Amino acid sequence: MAERWTVIVHGGAKTIAPPAEQRNRAGCSAAAAAAAAVVRAGGCAVEAVQAAIRVLEDDPAFNAGFGSVLTADGQVEMDAALMDGTTLDVGAVACVRRLRNPIRAAAAILRARPVLLCGSGAERFAHEAGLELCRPDEMISPERLASEHRSAHDTVGCVVRDRAGNLAAGTSTGGLPGKHPGRIGDSPIPGCGLFADSALGAASLSGDGESIIRTMVAARIAAGLERLDAQQAADLLPSLLARVGGAAGAIVVDRDGAVGIAHTSEHFAIGIQTDRMDAPAGMIHAREWKGIQP
Ligand code: ASP
Repeated sequence: MAERWTVIVHGGAKTIAPPAEQRNRAGCSAAAAAAAAVVRAGGCAVEAVQAAIRVLEDDPAFNAGFGSVLTADGQVEMDAALMDGTTLDVGAVACVRRLRNPIRAAAAILRARPVLLCGSGAERFAHEAGLELCRPDEMISPERLASEHRSAHDTVGCVVRDRAGNLAAGTSTGGLPGKHPGRIGDSPIPGCGLFADSALGAASLSGDGESIIRTMVAARIAAGLERLDAQQAADLLPSLLARVGGAAGAIVVDRDGAVGIAHTSEHFAIGIQTDRMDAPAGMIHAREWKGIQP
């Protein structure tokens, strides 16, 4: 199994209207390709997750980085996290407004003592680590000001198993549209929106953050991997959410590189590439993967 590698990205658990299908497939596929390039070149899972998420943060089609949704006050407030499944290090930021790529700030915190920094303290940490700060209004895309783009769950995430068997998970989001200023979702909280343990597997979520936090979805999927395969563990999602309601999607990779995908939303934007695929696949529903998996 040592050489086997797997990259899975998501671009949100949501309903995708036909005109938006292509850009969801293309965006996820480009992000998977970016992570795959890192792994192929001998890079580690953490670096690959970061590469994929940066691509999605820079793509205004997704609710992360530039193009994040707006709060009730018309501002962008972003959350992001990165987890290294080999060391169990986590770096996370919440409610940041002046960072073009919040996942880079999460990476800067990864090896430091804090797990999660918020707001101006997170921005200061990132700046001291060498990241440039921008004006908050530079993160607002024209599309997000248009009412028809206010309601999607376009959060992004990625899980990777690299060739050495290291696992990592990441997430990045502007949160829910119209959220209360200061609200923090599941995405930067380990065990909720993401989790990685190289002895078990890695998971990254999208969906209704309050539901995902209250049911600790990522940690429970990872715990499920002690007895289930990757797809069976992902398939725990509907039962985990049953008591609280809400829609979500989960991408899962197990310690051997097997893929699991589940969503209770109508669609789920996904990109996958593995060592057994010549090119990345961009999908909008888990059933598409069943048809193409090598
Ligand atoms: N889970 C994110 C949040 O609640 C939203 C999403 O997945 O789009 O902040």
